[in-house]
Amino acid sequence: MIRLLFLFLAGYCVYLIFKGATRKSAQTRPPGKPAGEITHKDPVCGMYVTEDDAVVGRLDDRKVYFCSMECLEKYRETLVDK
Ligand SMILES: [Zn+2]
Repeated sequence: MIRLLFLFLAGYCVYLIFKGATRKSAQTRPPGKPAGEITHKDPVCGMYVTEDDAVVGRLDDRKVYFCSMECLEKYRETLVDK
């Protein structure tokens, strides 16, 4: 009987940790965005942007996602310098 109670408590702890982890990850996302959306890292400022909000730059036949036009321009400038 005690063993059963222990198992129940352990299961409840796992549930709380899982609940806390999902809530924590939800906070790191931009507000108002549902979880599970595809995010891309802006290579200039390091910000994570969702595919819908991102400014998409086509560079060397690959897509690069930016948070704003300024970051896209900065990225282009660094490519020109090389
Ligand atoms: Zn940026």
